[in-house]
Amino acid sequence: MKKIAFITGSSRGIGRAVTVRLAEEGYAVGINCLHSKALAEQLAEQLRAQGREAAAFQADVADRAAITAAIRAAEEALGGPVSLLVNNAGIAEQHLFQDVTDAFWRRIFSVNVDGAFHAIQAVLPAMLHEKAGCIVNISSIWGQRGASCEVAYSTTKAALIGLTRSLAMELAPSHIRVNCVAPGVINTDMVQVLGEETLADLARETPLGRLGTPEDIANAVAFLADERASFLTGQVLTADGGFIL
Ligand code: NAP
Repeated sequence: MKKIAFITGSSRGIGRAVTVRLAEEGYAVGINCLHSKALAEQLAEQLRAQGREAAAFQADVADRAAITAAIRAAEEALGGPVSLLVNNAGIAEQHLFQDVTDAFWRRIFSVNVDGAFHAIQAVLPAMLHEKAGCIVNISSIWGQRGASCEVAYSTTKAALIGLTRSLAMELAPSHIRVNCVAPGVINTDMVQVLGEETLADLARETPLGRLGTPEDIANAVAFLADERASFLTGQVLTADGGFIL
């Protein structure tokens, strides 16, 4: 099976670093974004200039038809079925629980949870046919432990852990591995809303003394996708500098 990875939400941040890393590992990469089409196309361009195979597709993971079409288009462009799916696309907002609206609750579940559901169902038929494949979901330490003012976000990230474990059991007989990375505080656009001071505090509170980088998470994803992790399934790999120890 040709090494073809599709990474949802890969125009920026963690998804972008995962894409670069997987391309270095020899994967042909399908890049996905919602708004940042220019950034996604620029990344594909940059990778192709380095002799890698890459193509970018704009689609909302919350929209089953759109993300399925994007995955089909990636398979067409990259020359085969997706062998590694990374469910990375995600959104976060801070609200007091009593201020969470129906619209926000539905939207965050649609992107963070339904997005993975849609993308997995799009790649599964080929993986089941090949009796091979790998799925890595990006959860969060906030799905492992509680987070005040981020109840909706944390609940979606806990759901991804449940999805990972149960699906790993269901797919293990088909030799498809499903694992999860739970990042700590990673310095991307997503956390800039916290402000410089809070980010500095969070770095100080992290036993390893710094915020994580997108590349830290890319390394964890690359490990879980690698042959060396071939006996690992249903696992949650926490990459947080010791934050929740
Ligand atoms: P980010 O910098 O905000 O980037 C988010 C990426 O997801 C962008 O590429 C964005 O595309 C894409 N995206 C958002 N909604 C989408 C949708 N509906 N359909 C397709 N793509 C969509 O976030 P990040 O920090 O890299 O986070 C990536 C993942 O890691 C998320 O699942 C997040 O929950 C998780 N995580 C992050 C941290 C952290 O501290 N940063 C910690 C734990 C877990 P556009 O550019 O087109 O908007």
